[in-house]
Amino acid sequence: MSDLTPLQAVLNARAPSSADPAGPRRGCPLSDLRDRLRRAGLRPTRQRLSLGWLLFGRGDRHLTAEMLYDEAMRAKVPVSLATVYNTLHQFTEAGLLRQLALDGSKAYFDTNPSEHHHFFLEEEGAVIDMPECGISVDSLPEAPDGMEIAGVEVIVRLRRRATSGRA
Ligand SMILES: [Zn+2]
Repeated sequence: MSDLTPLQAVLNARAPSSADPAGPRRGCPLSDLRDRLRRAGLRPTRQRLSLGWLLFGRGDRHLTAEMLYDEAMRAKVPVSLATVYNTLHQFTEAGLLRQLALDGSKAYFDTNPSEHHHFFLEEEGAVIDMPECGISVDSLPEAPDGMEIAGVEVIVRLRRRATSGRA
């Protein structure tokens, strides 16, 4: 994929170091990513930068570890599936990703960590952000004693309508 070439070029040209003066490269997406990782308390290692580039370089998305691993393989980023899992969990703990509870067998990660709701197309494993005005949750039960509600995530499960024969 041609949009990944700059990453390879930049990573090959200079390994990230903690003493990196972001100076002349300010504003380029990779130095933005480096800053973003640092602000989240993560050292911007080559692997984190490579995976972060794949994750955050294309707008809001929902991915499983396997999907990201496939992208990494296609982009010739040398990582193992275990590293992809670890990195996704580190990013989630640092608040850069949100893990979605959609499907018991697979964890989906959302590159938009702010609270929002989802459609989930079960048969295809596809996750779609719900429009902002898509739902209103205004009648919640009281939280149990000593607890407070930390967030509400709504997942509306979809299936394709049985087609009544095509024209
Ligand atoms: Zn989402």
